[in-house]
Amino acid sequence: MTASIQAVRGMNDILPSETSIWQHIEHIFRQTLNSFGYQEIRLPIIEKTELFKRSVGEATDIVEKEMYTFEDRNGDSLSLRPEGTAGCVRAGIEHGLLYNQTQRLWYMGPFFRHERPQKGRYRQFNHCGVETYGFAGPDIEAELILLSARLIQQLGLSSAVTLEINSIGTASARQAYLTALRAYLTEHTEALDEDSRRRLTTNPLRILDSKNPGVQAVLNHAPNLSDYLEETSRAHAASLQNALTQLGIPFRINPRLVRGLDYYSDTVFEWLTNDDVAQNAVCAGGRYDHLVEQLGGKPTPACGFAFGMERLILLMQSSGQALQTHVPDAYMLSVDSASHCRALQIADQLRKSHPTLCLMVHAGGGSLKNQFRRADRSGAKMAFILGEQEMQDKTITLKSLREDLPQRTLSEPAFFAEIHQLLATQPRGVLSS
Ligand code: ATP
Ligand code: MG
Repeated sequence: MTASIQAVRGMNDILPSETSIWQHIEHIFRQTLNSFGYQEIRLPIIEKTELFKRSVGEATDIVEKEMYTFEDRNGDSLSLRPEGTAGCVRAGIEHGLLYNQTQRLWYMGPFFRHERPQKGRYRQFNHCGVETYGFAGPDIEAELILLSARLIQQLGLSSAVTLEINSIGTASARQAYLTALRAYLTEHTEALDEDSRRRLTTNPLRILDSKNPGVQAVLNHAPNLSDYLEETSRAHAASLQNALTQLGIPFRINPRLVRGLDYYSDTVFEWLTNDDVAQNAVCAGGRYDHLVEQLGGKPTPACGFAFGMERLILLMQSSGQALQTHVPDAYMLSVDSASHCRALQIADQLRKSHPTLCLMVHAGGGSLKNQFRRADRSGAKMAFILGEQEMQDKTITLKSLREDLPQRTLSEPAFFAEIHQLLATQPRGVLSS
């Protein structure tokens, strides 16, 4: 036998039994984003490597270790997108969407990072990202956080997550802080792990993010970023906190929240799961006022966030939310090619007049007994039968597959009237016997 080929490690198939929860989440995202007046933007999955080097930053884990980078046939260096903000800004500049106007945008789709695969961490994963441009004040952060809270609530996850916020100030404030932080940490290099020592020269701010208890102990006495913030950053942060309080959105200030990407300034925030799990961030975002300019556009204030869809789904599953699988309303059985043809026609007519109805017509022949077995396995609530007698009399037999009700044989017009009647009394417009 020929050896079978497996999927690439960390890149998962989403099987039919799982797609209904994906569709459910995607539907809620689309609906809620729409209700806040956000517009969808669709971006390429591959961008020039330079884009991520210039935006995410050369000294970040993403660019240093996690990107899928390859040479195009003409020698250009390209990368599978590891995140969406850079591409969104690139497109915004390229198509003149950012200059002298405001934008509220969102996108959804796959992203790629060569990380060590584990629960909630994959090499291909899905984001729903939201980006706003042209808003300098904290009112947009309040709106974005409200929007993320609404999405979480719509998914039934409000009690499963906590919001953490911080301000990382301006680049110049961070520079002053970094000098102090580096000096302090250099005195304690013996207590740092290998990763943190490396970051001491490349990206010291990221050390604040370390999960290593030894490193955290050293950090307890490190200088505080908040002491270095400029007055405008403090006022911005205070105003956002005030808005969140007024909106009734609980939050925790985490002075060590810095985010792993270089392009943030002032506000950063994350939604974390309350369970003590390794992969605990379900949504992360913040302000990135300098990125547009850094990528060649005119200075434009910007702010956004991204949800990790797989982690939301894991959370929904662990919080016991039932997975609704899509089952047909009815399954049509027939006995030969003529009755099968009639079944296809009737089903099509019904679907045309009732687009929410899900009807499956049996294919592949076989005895009625076998067809009933398939009908049952499909989860359908009803069977519509077109046997020899029904063909002769131009009738259709209805049989409930889930309840012990007598079966009924109806003329075609009576059958259509019956289905119409059944659907009219169903709130979701689907059949129930
Ligand atoms: P983490 O600290 O968990 O590595 P991150 O800071 O690298 O997260 P972001 O780049 O901010 O993550 O992406 C936003 C969200 O996308 C994260 O909060 C998380 O929910 C999700 N995410 C990030 N990387 C992965 C991955 N490899 N697999 C699945 N989801 C991911
Ligand atoms: Mg990461």
